[in-house]
Amino acid sequence: MDRRPWHRHYPKEIATSLTYDDKPLHDFLRRTAALYPEKKALHFMRNEMSFSEVYTASKKMASYLQSLGLEKGDRVAVMLPNCPQGVISYYGTLMAGGTVVQTNPLYKEREIEYQLNDSGAAFIVCLDILLPRVTNIRGNTELKHTIVTGIKDYLPFPKNKIYPIIQKRQYNMVVKTEETDDTHIWLNMMDRSDSNYQPVEVDPTEDLALLQYTGGTTGHPKGVMLTHRNLVANVQMCNAWLYRMDPSEQIVLGVLPFFHVYGMTTVMNMSMMYGSKMILLPKFDTKEVLKTIHKQKPTLFPGAPTIYIGLLHHPELKKYDLSSIEACISGSAPLPAEVQDQFESVTGGRLVEGYGLTETSPVTHSNFVWADRVNGSIGVPWPDTDCKIINMETNEEAAVGEVGEVAVKGPQVMKGYWGKRQETDNVLQNGWMCTGDMGYMDEEGYFYIVDRKKDMIIAGGYNIYPREVEEVLYEHEAVQEAVVAGIPDAYRGETVKAYIVFKAGYKETEEELNAFCRKNLAAFKVPRIYEFRDELPKTAVGKILRRKLIDEEKEKMGQN
Ligand code: AMP
Repeated sequence: MDRRPWHRHYPKEIATSLTYDDKPLHDFLRRTAALYPEKKALHFMRNEMSFSEVYTASKKMASYLQSLGLEKGDRVAVMLPNCPQGVISYYGTLMAGGTVVQTNPLYKEREIEYQLNDSGAAFIVCLDILLPRVTNIRGNTELKHTIVTGIKDYLPFPKNKIYPIIQKRQYNMVVKTEETDDTHIWLNMMDRSDSNYQPVEVDPTEDLALLQYTGGTTGHPKGVMLTHRNLVANVQMCNAWLYRMDPSEQIVLGVLPFFHVYGMTTVMNMSMMYGSKMILLPKFDTKEVLKTIHKQKPTLFPGAPTIYIGLLHHPELKKYDLSSIEACISGSAPLPAEVQDQFESVTGGRLVEGYGLTETSPVTHSNFVWADRVNGSIGVPWPDTDCKIINMETNEEAAVGEVGEVAVKGPQVMKGYWGKRQETDNVLQNGWMCTGDMGYMDEEGYFYIVDRKKDMIIAGGYNIYPREVEEVLYEHEAVQEAVVAGIPDAYRGETVKAYIVFKAGYKETEEELNAFCRKNLAAFKVPRIYEFRDELPKTAVGKILRRKLIDEEKEKMGQN
């Protein structure tokens, strides 16, 4: 059998193997700033910064961190929403020789404390309004310095003006911070920072650029160690995939948060490495995204299914011109075919499904953007990326069409989990990363994700993959969002429960939905319980938190 049947579908413009630049990630920003000094690197609310401004500010940050004693390999936690300071902190840390620890700004004290201790971060950059959370737990950590910034530090407006996008939101507060020996104020840092920056020797294949925490929905999160090479390789692959688009002419929409690996790679690092302009949005607000597309005319829009679904269901969708969008890669969760078709007809651009995980920087697969895509498939492995399906019983490579665990290998695969040898050995063997996702490959070399290994429902002895049931529910005209979970059941072990959000104006009954499922699914897969909600719990990138719903259910039953 041809080990890599997908290669025959590659358009001639995409090489199946690339040459990776042997440089640290931050060196690309230096090059981009030298190539396009005046070109706009980012747009944030009504402010813009050029590549040379972003580079200079990052260098100042690096110099300041070094003056505070940062040594190569020290960890710097960055707890910011998408804003210029987030980009500068990330690149400044790398330039100083540090490792970035991405910290979700929504984290509560317990979670921040766990992450700071697990990573051993000595520095943190955070928003002024988040400072109390950091201060409260600081004594329990190894933190030495906190750098504090206000969301408005780079805005050309008076400090007390209300900004529409952050209106009524926590980010809009103005907070006064006292400067001390270990608490530093961003704008003062930028004023004071000298030009004593000392470049640091970095080995791109060995040295860590990033600790990206994952696995938070089950047990304690683990820090994924991603090297400079991992991150550079994934961006180079992404650029190769988008071969028709000259990256320096693109405008990339940054709705996905950069503290998650997906937005970080496909928006931030893509722009900084290749000179695209990025539009930063600090949170996902459907109207704001539509307005931004209309006004700023982005051409590239990486997102997740719930983001595209949210936009398609906005009551004023027709008011906005979305025709600038040429290409979107959707990842994080399965992309329903109707969403893909509708979004393409509204924008005139292409929307294709991709796949990846934090441990792979993140992208490993996607459909081709300008060739026929295969609905329901995550596409084919990216250049230099190998993939196989492992039969869970025999541990051997599965046959074509047979469901097993998806394993991937390539230059984007992590070095391991920080400080967790055993967990690393469990998932990483001979360079193959076992993803924990169940899937199969068809004869053409296209891959399909059936479900997460741990999400599979076993009801009355039958294996049920939630995704299959969800796909049917999504086909029903009244359903805007659906998620299916296996909840404990005294008789069947587990039973199938569906959580539904209806489209505006629809209110189907349980009987109607059930009849629809019965028509389209084997009886054992049909949900036994339905719950209708106004919204579903989601992660920062919009992935529906199935685990949370199961935990809620168990709690109700007194099983937690
Ligand atoms: P994260 O590490 O947070 O990026 O989550 C990675 C997980 O998201 C993968 O292991 C998959 O379970 C899921 N995922 C990503 N892309 C897709 C996709 N296109 N279809 C189904 N699941 C996906």
